[in-house]
Amino acid sequence: MNVFDHVEFDHHERIGFFNDTKTGLKAIIAIHNTNRGPALGGCRMWNYASEDEALTDVLRLSRGMTYKAAITDLPLGGGKSVIIADAKTEKTPEMMRAMGRAVQQMGGDYITAEDVNTSVDDMLQISKETTHVVGLPATDGQGGGDPSPLTAYGVFVGLKSAVEYRLKSDLNGKVVAVQGLGHVGYNLCRHLHESGAKLVVTDINADVLDQAKSDFGAEVVGLNDIYDVDADVYAPCALGATLNDDTLPRLKVSVIAGAANNQLATAKHANILQDRGILYAPDYVINAGGLINVHYEHVARKSGGGYDRDAVCAHIDKIGDTMETLFKMSERENISTATAADRLAEQRFNAPKATTAEAA
Ligand code: NAD
Repeated sequence: MNVFDHVEFDHHERIGFFNDTKTGLKAIIAIHNTNRGPALGGCRMWNYASEDEALTDVLRLSRGMTYKAAITDLPLGGGKSVIIADAKTEKTPEMMRAMGRAVQQMGGDYITAEDVNTSVDDMLQISKETTHVVGLPATDGQGGGDPSPLTAYGVFVGLKSAVEYRLKSDLNGKVVAVQGLGHVGYNLCRHLHESGAKLVVTDINADVLDQAKSDFGAEVVGLNDIYDVDADVYAPCALGATLNDDTLPRLKVSVIAGAANNQLATAKHANILQDRGILYAPDYVINAGGLINVHYEHVARKSGGGYDRDAVCAHIDKIGDTMETLFKMSERENISTATAADRLAEQRFNAPKATTAEAA
C-alpha cells in the first residue's frame, strides 16, 4: 500500500494508523489541512474489503472536509477517520473507547463526530477518552442535538438564493421536485411549503409520502419519474451521483439545489449543467449546516459556555451570500459553479497562516 504517492494523497499533513489488539480496533485518522484550524470530520465505520480501500476513502473524505470548512468560512481544517470493522457484528463500547484514545493521540489537531455507522452513543464512549469530540447529546446545554434540521435550513437558504438568482423570484408558486424525504428532505419540504412552493416528491418509504401529502399537499411521483417533473427546482436529498448521463437530458428544471453528498457523477457533469443553463448549487456548500452546527458545539465545549443556536442560524444564513458569490464568479470566469466553489475554498485554505507574532 502506497501512502505518500497514493493517488488521493493530495498534500495530506498527517495520517495516523491505529491498532488496538485488545479491542480489535483498526483505524486510520487522516488530517488533510489545518491552515484554518483543527481538522473536524466524522468517524466512519465500514467493513472495507481492503486496507487500501479504507485509506482511499479516508483521504477523499478528509480532503472534502477541508473544502467544506473553508467555503463555509469556519476556523476549521479538514480531517476524517475510518474504522475498519463491521458495525453490526464487531462494534463494541471498548472499541469506541480505543478510538477515543487514538483521537486523543492526535493532540487536538483532529476533532471527531458521527458519520456512517457511528452514533451519538459511540461519541459518548469516545468522549470518555478525549475532549476532541462533538455530536454529543444536547442535554448538557452544550450540544446541538440532531444536525439534520439545521442542514435542511441551510439547504433551504441556498435553494432560495439560487431561485432568486436564476428566476429573479421568491419561492411562492415555484415547483420543487424533492427526492428523498428523510431527516433532511422532510424538514426542507416544511420550509418550502411555508414559503408557498408546490412540492412534487418521491421516496422508497410509502408512509413518509402519505405524510407529505397530508402535511404539505405534496404530489407524489414514482422513484424514476422525479427527473422528468416539470419543475423549477430539483432537490436531491437521498442518493449521490443522481446528476449523470442518464438523468441530465431528462431534467427540465432551472435550478438544482439539494442536500445529498456527491451529487455529480463526475466533474464533467458540472460543465454540462453550466452549458445547459441549469444553475447548480454545489453540494458541499449547500449542505454545510450540520458542520456549522457542530462547530458551534465545539466552541461551547471549549469555552465552557452554552450552545448558541441563534449564532448557528446566523452563520447558516450566510450560505445564501456564499451561493451568490459563487454564481457571480461562475458567470464572470465562465467556469461551473462546482469549480467556482473549489477555487474559492482553495484560496481560503491556502492563504498563509498568521504567524504567532502577527496574531499577537
Ligand atoms: P436519511 O437516510 O434520513 O434520508 C434519506 C431518504 O431518502 C430516506 O427517506 C430514504 O427512504 C430515501 N431514499 C433512499 N433511496 C431512495 C431513492 N432511490 N429514491 C428516493 N428516495 C430514496 O438521510 P438524511 O440525513 O436526510 O440525508 C440525506 C442526504 O443528505 C444524504 O445524501 C446525506 O449524506 C446528505 N447529508 C445529510 C446531512 C445531515 O445533517 N443529515 C448533512 C450533510 C449531507
